[in-house]
Amino acid sequence: MLKIFRPCDFHVHLREGQVLKHVLKENNKNFQKILVMPNLAKPITNEKILSKYRALVLKNNRNTEILFTIYLNQDCKISDLKNMIKNNLFFAAKLYPLHATTNSSSGVKDIKKMSKYFEFLEKNKIPLCLHGEHIHKDDDPYERERRFLEYELSWLVKNFKNLKITLEHITTKDSVDFVKLNNNIAASITTHHLLENTNTFLGDYLKPELFCKPIIKSKKHQKSLLSAALSGNSKFFFGSDSAPHLKKYKFTESCCAGVYSTKYSVSNILELFYSSKKTNNLNKFLTINGCKHYNLKFDNKLISYVRQKDFKFQKYSKFKNDSLINYNHFKNHWIIN
Ligand SMILES: [Zn+2]
Repeated sequence: MLKIFRPCDFHVHLREGQVLKHVLKENNKNFQKILVMPNLAKPITNEKILSKYRALVLKNNRNTEILFTIYLNQDCKISDLKNMIKNNLFFAAKLYPLHATTNSSSGVKDIKKMSKYFEFLEKNKIPLCLHGEHIHKDDDPYERERRFLEYELSWLVKNFKNLKITLEHITTKDSVDFVKLNNNIAASITTHHLLENTNTFLGDYLKPELFCKPIIKSKKHQKSLLSAALSGNSKFFFGSDSAPHLKKYKFTESCCAGVYSTKYSVSNILELFYSSKKTNNLNKFLTINGCKHYNLKFDNKLISYVRQKDFKFQKYSKFKNDSLINYNHFKNHWIIN
């Protein structure tokens, strides 16, 4: 048996409509807090869109604290941001480089032209969450994250020393090292980037359900992510980047990016820490480190999980006339006692 605080997921996509209800229900089962991403089909760039989305999410939410984000781009108006902060409508700003991932066609082409926004966030103590990939059409997708550190992130941390930054869903040793070396920056890590590598993703057969951005990296990088997460280092915490996609959009000619991991993410993380004999750092990775980074209080009531061997996993969750593909890694499963 393992006793842990109810976990937090500091990076999740709820999307909209019927899928939102389904995904939020899974989140309510597992998490005390979730940080919700703003890249809807029409991104959340102003108060009108945010208010509508807040109402939709809060109406369907049961028992999870929802932390909203806004989609920071050149269309955002400082006066509008000011107003939303005054009314406590969002918690953090998320920045996507142009065309970095699903629904990022409104992303930022040149972040160095966004200084007035960064100054504003810094002054108002609003965290900046970054999709950390440098997107250039001729660059190798495997190099995007490393290049982002070099071209964009180094510039950001040098020029906005008091801006609180989260480098989201890191996938490389380069990012682990960068985060360790710099102040005011922490990183979220997903389940699938901790548990998969290029061999498991495309070594034998290609697994479209593991295709995501940033793309899953080699074993060398996976090892570095694992040691950062398992060590309990306060700069690294859980953010699933769980993103629901219908099977018909994953197993097709143009497979879209995203892994839907919510159903089994806590179980997978528990099994990882248990089998690595690091259960003493579980609360740090799943709750404490993220809350510390974001200055949030958390519920410290303990919840018991028990381990089931050779559990029968549900790979597909029926959804309308299709399915959502659930990500799972281990054979053993942890359930709430
Ligand atoms: Zn994401």
